[in-house]
Amino acid sequence: AKNKGKSAYERFAPEMKEVSHERLQIESRMRRALELNEFELYYQPIVETSSGKICGAEALLRWNNPTMGMVMPDKFIPLAEETGLIIPIGEWVLNQACRSAVRWEQASGLKHGISVNVSPRQFRDPGFVDAVMHALQSSGLPAHRLELEITERLILDNSIETSEILSRLDREGVRLSVDDFGTGYSALSYLKSYPFDTLKIDKSFVQDVNAKQEDASLVRAIINMAHSLGLKVIAEGVEDEAQTDFLNEEHCDYSQGYYYSRPMPELDYEDWLRTSQRA
Ligand code: C2E
Ligand code: CA
Ligand code: CA
Ligand code: CA
Repeated sequence: AKNKGKSAYERFAPEMKEVSHERLQIESRMRRALELNEFELYYQPIVETSSGKICGAEALLRWNNPTMGMVMPDKFIPLAEETGLIIPIGEWVLNQACRSAVRWEQASGLKHGISVNVSPRQFRDPGFVDAVMHALQSSGLPAHRLELEITERLILDNSIETSEILSRLDREGVRLSVDDFGTGYSALSYLKSYPFDTLKIDKSFVQDVNAKQEDASLVRAIINMAHSLGLKVIAEGVEDEAQTDFLNEEHCDYSQGYYYSRPMPELDYEDWLRTSQRA
C-alpha cells in the first residue's frame, strides 16, 4: 500500500538499475579475465569407494579478480553462459585440465582421469567437439581419460543435435557422465539411448543417507539401476565416514567430497597426490 500511486516502473526501476549495473561491471571484467590470466582451476579428487584409491579429479573453475577477490562459479558461470563468454572460457578450461592430467601422470606414474564440466551453451556451440579434440591432441591426453560432465537438464532437451554430439564424443572415446543426477525432471529413457558411462549422484541425496530412510532408498535404487544399465556411479558431496560406509555397502563405485579433500589449486593437488600415494 505504501507504493500505491507509483507505477511499476518507479517501484522497481532503482533496484533493476543497480542489478544491471553490477552485471555489466562483472561482464566487462569477465571479458578481460582470460587475457589477464585471472581464471584458475581447482581440483578435487575422485576416489574408488572400496579402496580409497585415487582415480581422477574434477576440475572446478575459480576467478581471482583483484577487485572482487575469489569469485565462485555459481556467481559468474550463469552470466558467462548468457553472454556466450562461456565458450572461450570453456575452451581454456578444457586445455588447462587436459594438460594438468598429463603432468600428474608424468609426476606420479598414475593413470589419472580428469572430469570437466560442460555448460549447455558451450555444448551446443558448433565448435565444441573440435575444441575437445584440440585439447586432447595438444596435451597428448588419451581420450578415455577425459570425462565430460553434462547436467541432466541439458540432456532432457531431447534434440537431435544433443544426441549427435554425444555420439561423436563417444566414438572419439571420450567418457560422458550425467552430473547432478536426480535433480532434473528425469525421464529415465535417455539413459538407454545415450552413450553415457557414469552417473554422478547429486550431493543433496548423499547428505542425508544416514538420517533419512527415503534418501537411503533413493541412493540405493540409483546405484542398482545404473549398474544394471552398465553405468558406473560417483557419489558427490561425501562429507563423513558414515556416508562412505553406506556407499561402500551399496557398491557405489566412486566417491568425491570434503571427506576425502576439498578442491585444491593445482600445485597443492600435486603435493596431495604425492603424499597420498606414499600413504
Ligand atoms: P558441480 O559440478 O556439481 O560441482 C560440485 C560442487 O560441489 C563444487 O562447487 C564443489 O566444490 C562442491 N563440493 C565438493 N565436495 C563437496 C562436499 O563434500 N560438500 C559440499 N557441500 N560441496 C562439495 P563449486 O566448485 O562451487 O562449483 C559449483 C558449480 O559450478 C559446479 O557444480 C558446476 O556446475 C559449476 N562449474 C564449476 N567449474 C565449472 C567449469 O569449468 N565449467 C562449467 N560450465 N561449470 C563449472
Ligand atoms: Ca560437476
Ligand atoms: Ca562411452
Ligand atoms: Ca554435481
